Amino acid sequence: QYILAIETSCDETAAAIIRNGTEIVSNIVASQIDSQKRFGGVVPEVASRHHVEQITIVIEEALEKANMQPSDLTAVAVTEGPGLVGALLIGINAAKAFAFAHGLPLIPVHHIAGHIYANALVEPMEFPLLALVVSGGHTELVLMKEHGSFEVIGETRDDAAGEAYDKVARVLNMPYPGGPHIDRLAQEAKEGIDFPRAWLEENSYDFSFSGLKSAVINYKHNMDQRGEEIDPQKVAKGFQDSVVEVLTTKTLRAAREFNVKQVIAAGGVSANKGLRTSLEQVFEKEQIPFIVPPLKLCTDNAAMIGAAASYMYVAGVRGDLAMNGLPGKELKSWI
Ligand code: ATP
Ligand code: MG
Ligand code: FE
Repeated sequence: QYILAIETSCDETAAAIIRNGTEIVSNIVASQIDSQKRFGGVVPEVASRHHVEQITIVIEEALEKANMQPSDLTAVAVTEGPGLVGALLIGINAAKAFAFAHGLPLIPVHHIAGHIYANALVEPMEFPLLALVVSGGHTELVLMKEHGSFEVIGETRDDAAGEAYDKVARVLNMPYPGGPHIDRLAQEAKEGIDFPRAWLEENSYDFSFSGLKSAVINYKHNMDQRGEEIDPQKVAKGFQDSVVEVLTTKTLRAAREFNVKQVIAAGGVSANKGLRTSLEQVFEKEQIPFIVPPLKLCTDNAAMIGAAASYMYVAGVRGDLAMNGLPGKELKSWI
C-alpha cells in the first residue's frame, strides 16, 4: 500500500509517499518561513500564493524521490482541516485533480490526527494511548483506545502552547516562529524568572497560557519603566519552565488515571528540548513507554498525513470530489 499525502494547512507546502502506514518513502517540505518572517507571522494571502507556486513541484518531487509513477499508488490523502481555508483549498484541489486524473481514491485527513500519527512512523502504537498535542493552534490531551478513536480529555481555554511561545518570542524581539529561539535561550540560561503556573481546577486536564503570556509582558513592561534591561535567557527559561511543568504534570496524571500503555507527544512544540527531556524523564521513571517524533516530523509535514491516511484507508474512509476545506474541523473518530 502506497499513499501520496498532501499537506497545505498553514505555511508549509508538503507532499510525501508512505508505505503501509509505517515507512517514509519520500517526504518533501517547502517552508515559507523566510517570506513570512518579515510579517512576524503567517499572512493567509501570502501562504496561499506560496502553496499555488509550490504544490505541483512538491508533488512531482515526492514521486521522483520515491522513484514512483502515479500508477504505483494506492490512494491520495490530503489535509481537510483545520487550518487556513485558502491554504487548505490549494492542497485539496491538487489532491482531487490527482486522484481524478489517475483514478485513485481520495482520503480526507484531520491535521491533528496527522500530528498524532507522526508517531506511527517511529514505533507501532499501543492502546490505550495518551497523546499530548502541542502545536501552533492546539494544546490537547487525547485518549485513544484503538486506531481511529479520539477522545479529547483536556484542551487549552485560551492560547495554544505554540501561540504563547510565538507571542513571548515577539516580546523578546525574536523572529517568527519564536518557539525554537526561546527553546535555545532557555537551554543557555542558568536560572529563570519565577512566572506563574496555570493549574486550573484540581481535576481539570485543561490548559491556559494567556495568564503566563501576560505575566511575561508585564514583567518586560515593569522593567522598561524602571529603565532596566531584561535578560532574555532568564525570561525564556522562566517561561519555558512554567509551560513544561504544567504540560508534564497533567500528562502524567492523565496517563495514570487512564492506565495507558503508551504516551506520545505531537505537534510543533513537541520539538521543544525542554519538554522532550522532561517527558522522557518522567515516563522513564513511571515505566510507561514514551515516544516523540524526530524534529522534522514534529512540525507540519505530509508524511504524518500519509501515516494517518493509511489506517483510514484500511478502515474504509473515503472522500469525494465534493470535498471542501474545513478551517475549524474538530478531531473526530473515524471508526
Ligand atoms: P496546528 O497544528 O495547531 O494547526 P501549526 O500547524 O501552525 O498549528 P505546527 O507546525 O505543528 O503548528 O507547530 C508550529 C509551532 O511550533 C509554532 O508555534 C512554533 O513556534 C512551535 N515550535 C517549533 N519548534 C519549537 C521548539 N523547539 N520549542 C517550542 N515551540 C516550537
Ligand atoms: Mg507551520
Ligand atoms: Fe500543525
